[in-house]
Amino acid sequence: MNQYIQTIVGDILVRHQMVNLYNYIGGHNITNENGTFIDGINPATGKKILNIPRSNSNDVLVAVIAAEKAYQTWSQTSNEFRHDILMKIADLIVKNQTLFALAESVDSGKTVKAATEIDIPRAAANFKFFATAIMNFSSESHEMQGEAINYTLRQPIGIVGCIAPWNLPLYLLTWKIAPALAAGNCVIAKPSEITPLTAQLLSLVCKEAGLPNGVLNILHGYGHEVGEAIVKHPKIKAISFTGSTATGANIARIAAPMFKKLSLELGGKNPNIIFADCNYEKALETSIQSSFSNQGQICLCGSRIFVQRAMYERFKYDFVDKVHRLIVGDPLATDSILGALVSKEHAQKVMSYIELAKEEGGKILCGGTMLKLPAPCENGSFIAPTVITDLPYNCRTNQEEIFGPVVTITPFDTEEEVLDMANSVEYGLAASVWTENIGRANRMATKLQCGLVWINCWMLRDLRTPFGGTKSSGVGREGGVEALRFFTEAKNVTVKY
Ligand code: NAD
Repeated sequence: MNQYIQTIVGDILVRHQMVNLYNYIGGHNITNENGTFIDGINPATGKKILNIPRSNSNDVLVAVIAAEKAYQTWSQTSNEFRHDILMKIADLIVKNQTLFALAESVDSGKTVKAATEIDIPRAAANFKFFATAIMNFSSESHEMQGEAINYTLRQPIGIVGCIAPWNLPLYLLTWKIAPALAAGNCVIAKPSEITPLTAQLLSLVCKEAGLPNGVLNILHGYGHEVGEAIVKHPKIKAISFTGSTATGANIARIAAPMFKKLSLELGGKNPNIIFADCNYEKALETSIQSSFSNQGQICLCGSRIFVQRAMYERFKYDFVDKVHRLIVGDPLATDSILGALVSKEHAQKVMSYIELAKEEGGKILCGGTMLKLPAPCENGSFIAPTVITDLPYNCRTNQEEIFGPVVTITPFDTEEEVLDMANSVEYGLAASVWTENIGRANRMATKLQCGLVWINCWMLRDLRTPFGGTKSSGVGREGGVEALRFFTEAKNVTVKY
């Protein structure tokens, strides 16, 4: 285990001491230029655990200088060299998995079980996957018969910005950093100011793995300050962003006139469509996961459940029965299924949507309240998993992203009707369809307006596949070759015979 990581996690969990985070620039922990901090709160206890640097545009300038210098050599390294380092980073994440998972849990409120089984293994998998992908990355050639041959070079872009949200902190940050580094770029990364801890731990394993100084730089702070400064810096040539649709639009407004490459993974309001001919038990069980995993704070969660009328009553009854059995508890307890929401502010936003649902005529079948748990979580941000019915498909509760443990259930009769309802939102990220009728499954997949469709499953991910949304859920695709293409510039070379 890395001794620095052990000390940080020990300070928080065992010694109950505040931990100071630093920016990671040029391979060193550096205090931010203005020396001011943001409070980092454990949302399960309400206690302050971190001092987070409140960086600004001056810190971005320093990081860009470090990245520019590192790029001269990093961009010239072989694929094999970068593969080896990324594999070492993956191995070190695995080696320190328990500490990473504890850190992710206290920082975000997610259960340590979820962090151990999902977030941290996936962060390691991201590095492994792109380490291997770069070894298999190839480009095209086009022959003009008898005259010339064209070949396409795919070269790194230079310095790229990777900005991540709080819901899957290390998982999503590494999903961007890994392909960017594999392709030979230098990175300026910004984790969410709400969940910055595992990014700091990542810098420690990168150092241990021998990643050259300045290749990865991590800046902490507010989005509208240091985040926006990253987007505005003229030497940062591409921005890969995951977060809310409003922030994505703001980033696009700044970056588009500067002709930066942009990948935007934004909000969602995903339908989970259950036909009466489905495998009922599987649909029911998976719908519990797709509704409440990570307290409903996954962009892929199916927050609008549509159930064909023939099984509507039965599904409602069985679903609510299962929801009652979900244990909401201390995220560090191994039997907790749901942990805390990420912050007090976010919990208040989710509660305001539950109030809105009531005003709109919704019937709360279960949940609908904040929970007061015993010590040490008596001041935590916990919401009971909430199921709402009797709402029109086009009301605000059913149209706007809530991003919490709240789902609605709506009956439907026909394919056409449910397609209209499913496609009625401004978002277009993902959908699940439950049916044993293969023709219907494929018809639905074709007609749903979104970037990802799961038939008889949810969140089953093959990292080679294109990942991303349509409409207000984003622009561009991540994953596999799509990510490597995003993080490289294509250059055509024509050689005359
Ligand atoms: P957010 O937009 O508030 O913040 C995301 C990141 O952007 C943070 O690091 C933040 O500091 C930074 N940021 C904020 N304002 C900025 C600005 N003006 N310029 C540059 N950076 C800025 O989002 P959030 O609340 O952290 O995350 C929740 C949202 O993320 C939800 O809408 C969710 O659907 C979405 N999300 C989407 C996906 C996807 O793959 N499509 C995955 C996860 C989360």
